[in-house]
Amino acid sequence: MLTPLPAFSDNYIWMLHDGLTAWVVDPGDAAPVLAALQSQGLALGGILVTHHHADHVGGIQALRHVLRGPVFGPARERIPGPFTPLHDGDVVELLGLSFRVIDVPGHTAGHIAYAQQGVAPDPLLFCGDTLFSAGCGRLFEGTPAQMSHSLARLDALPAATRVCCTHEYTLSNLKFAAAVEPDNIDVLNHTRHCQALRQNGQPTLPSSLALERRINPFLRCSEATVVAAARRQGANNYSDNASDNDSGEAVAVLAALREWKNRF
Ligand code: ZN
Ligand code: FE
Repeated sequence: MLTPLPAFSDNYIWMLHDGLTAWVVDPGDAAPVLAALQSQGLALGGILVTHHHADHVGGIQALRHVLRGPVFGPARERIPGPFTPLHDGDVVELLGLSFRVIDVPGHTAGHIAYAQQGVAPDPLLFCGDTLFSAGCGRLFEGTPAQMSHSLARLDALPAATRVCCTHEYTLSNLKFAAAVEPDNIDVLNHTRHCQALRQNGQPTLPSSLALERRINPFLRCSEATVVAAARRQGANNYSDNASDNDSGEAVAVLAALREWKNRF
């Protein structure tokens, strides 16, 4: 069972449980986790961390007194310890499920994602602040080339992948997506759908990769409409640094989109 626990103003702490034991992802705050464990009679079996930002790790120490298992986190970042450091390709087993670690630098330098392995019809992806619905994370520690490569690795996962992002940014991201692609009917339809969800106090997540491929401009950097929009924002400025033309252009487009979004 998968539940997003709202935290702060727009974070979600994803909780996965089997009726007895729960795991949480990126507990920036302990209070919502403790409340959920208590009300559902669950034990805390472990914690997954995607990156070092306070709104993702701030609750870890306050959860230690109820924690019965490991804290897993990115090897290349500083996480409130002790924790088990993970590298690209490592596999984590929890609640009978198996997750593969994917390095996704860009938002932070050592950011990792957890992608469910095996035969699940709709595998889970915990992607932290790398991939959002209709958007991507800000480049605090990484380059557009790194983010472009990281998003491409996530985009290579199965279409039915359930995308569990850590922030409820969907409606503001969709506003930007509509500015990039005013004629994208999927963006329009999904905006209406998400407005209704939010009016009922419901999360717009998880999303799916299939949907993100249709609505997320940061996964559509090779679409002619997105390339043209990015060029109007000065994407050419970046192509000087391109190593090869195809991926170079996608990186230039992503860089222009990201800067445009920063001031949007
Ligand atoms: Zn972050
Ligand atoms: Fe965050």
